[in-house]
Amino acid sequence: MQQRKILVTSALPYANGPIHIGHLVEYIQTDIWVRFQKMQGHQCYYCCADDTHGTPIMLRAEKEGMTPEQLIDRVWHEHKADFDGFLVDFDNYYSTNSPETRHYAEDIYRKLRDGGLIEARSIEQYYDPQKEMFLPDRFIKGECPKCHAKDQYGDSCEACGTTYQPTDLIEPFSAVSGAAPERRESVHYFFQLDKCADFLSGWIQPPRVQAESGNKLREWLESGLTDWDISRDAPYFGFEIPDAPGKYFYVWLDAPIGYMGSFRNLCDREGIDFDSFWDKEKAAEAGTELYHFIGKDILYFHALFWPAELKSAGYRTPSAVFAHGFLTVNGQKMSKSRGTFITASSYLKHLKPEYLRYYFAAKLGGGIEDIDLSLEDFVARVNADLIGKYVNIASRSAGFIAKRFDKQLAEVGGEAIVEQVQQGAAEIAELYEAREYGKALRKIMALADEVNLYTDGKKPWEMAKQEGKDAELQQVCSVLINCFRLLTIYLQPIMPELAQGVAKFLNVEPFKWSDAETLLPAGHQINKYKHLTTRIDPKQIEALLADNAVNMEAAGDSHSQARHPEKQQHEAEANTVIEPIMETIGIEDFTKIDLRVARIVKAGPVEGADKLVQLTLDIGSETRNVFAGIKAAYKPEDLEGRLTVMVANLAPRKMRFGVSEGMVLAAGPGGGELYILNPDSGAQPGMRVK
Ligand SMILES: [Zn+2]
Repeated sequence: MQQRKILVTSALPYANGPIHIGHLVEYIQTDIWVRFQKMQGHQCYYCCADDTHGTPIMLRAEKEGMTPEQLIDRVWHEHKADFDGFLVDFDNYYSTNSPETRHYAEDIYRKLRDGGLIEARSIEQYYDPQKEMFLPDRFIKGECPKCHAKDQYGDSCEACGTTYQPTDLIEPFSAVSGAAPERRESVHYFFQLDKCADFLSGWIQPPRVQAESGNKLREWLESGLTDWDISRDAPYFGFEIPDAPGKYFYVWLDAPIGYMGSFRNLCDREGIDFDSFWDKEKAAEAGTELYHFIGKDILYFHALFWPAELKSAGYRTPSAVFAHGFLTVNGQKMSKSRGTFITASSYLKHLKPEYLRYYFAAKLGGGIEDIDLSLEDFVARVNADLIGKYVNIASRSAGFIAKRFDKQLAEVGGEAIVEQVQQGAAEIAELYEAREYGKALRKIMALADEVNLYTDGKKPWEMAKQEGKDAELQQVCSVLINCFRLLTIYLQPIMPELAQGVAKFLNVEPFKWSDAETLLPAGHQINKYKHLTTRIDPKQIEALLADNAVNMEAAGDSHSQARHPEKQQHEAEANTVIEPIMETIGIEDFTKIDLRVARIVKAGPVEGADKLVQLTLDIGSETRNVFAGIKAAYKPEDLEGRLTVMVANLAPRKMRFGVSEGMVLAAGPGGGELYILNPDSGAQPGMRVK
């Protein structure tokens, strides 16, 4: 096999908050892929860094009474410890606030400027006269121009979901100082992305982007690319633009350049040829590959801005950008109030990192679908599959080999089950390469099932009691040990520490993928078997959730996920009674029901009706008044701003308190056990549900 030269990155975590399990989906996904490539014998480098610039960091540092440099240094150490704890093995974990990143940011900027792709023009923005700084959209608050909710951010209203310009806000104020902002002119620098439209429309094709990403990217391209504002005014924590004093690169300009900075730093330390990975001609000549793993929310930056910048500045473009979906916990967004906004460091206090690696891998495919961490399923899979099916193979056989046969294995060549497990290697490798870890694990566990069937057929524990069965017992147990070794090789990218323990137990060198081509020979002596891992006790999960519910202030904002952890929602332990299915209807019956996505604009109590909540629903074209019997299950204030589904063509019903103009859909037996429906994010009020 030809040795590939591969550079891999994960998106840079923002240096103003802790790593949580939502972030870890990406780092675990990438780490598994990198470990797999390294096991194949390829030259593979995994680089990342903290994303350290921008107004939020500057203001946070000020609030904590330190310099931005002190803040990002502290956060870097926290992030690094979290990644180490989850066995995410970067070849270099660096910072964007580095001379290398500054060098490439300036270099790319100059090349874009000289190529006629940068335009300077004056724009009007909000300015905080007290703080003497221009305000990013998220730092301006005011009254929503549409629903008049108070205290809304400058980019969108959390009550009614409308998006707008900060200049649309009524009575705006600075979230930094509280002062009334002034509108001021300032010169900004724009990267004229539309000049790269032709290049990009050719570039955004599979396999460089996934099919689903390609569709989204084409939509953006077809609706027209707007110029990208890459500058910010002082005061700003970042890199000053070389020919523009007082102007700084916007944090999103230098974030991906941080990949180059981190790799450059690694190259200088280890004598790797940087240009063979980044220079357009040299990279093509050397056949090096470059892959970015990212969350689907930052696709625009990585699959439009980034390749356009690189191409225009004469650098190579990525071989592919691999986007993944978001994490939900128990089917819902991570929530601080439910304790499911789980930080990396708190997880590590309660559970082994490899359990989460295993579970995420079981859920991950090559696409951009969201993945769900169902905590019950998590416990079940680790205990039933990982321990029950896989570890069990070793624990059922190792004792006999140790006690009865002086730890020595017998010859196992030609045994059908061994060959079957061995033959899985190629398919499993293909699945890893395609990031289809869920499918790879299903294949591995199916093989483990076969091995357990073999064991049940042979019943070594009965052989052990019978006279004259020694040779057969040794042979069967040796088959099991060999199968266990092969399965461990397949699991190693996901469970590196466990695999290391197995290699020690088997008295062999750390595994390479090609080790699956061979077997342990007759006479090979293994070591004494010690428990490799333990089952999860559901109490550990309870403790983890309790820990996070208490520590909710510790979890801060993040760059790429769960920017607005949702508000507290009703929670109940469902004691589900399943109703029988109703009689069959035709599609024509169903289409008579006009179901619409509705936004709950207002929710309030109804005087004289203990069970009712009065809802004002926005269904795009109009608003409706609906009385819903959900008071025992929801606090009205928790409902405001949420999307749900309503029956829009139900005949209006006159009630004592007014007319109810429709019905909100909810599941459950009633009382406190009612769950209103929630469409996936992206749905808009008025959309028909069909
Ligand atoms: Zn609003």
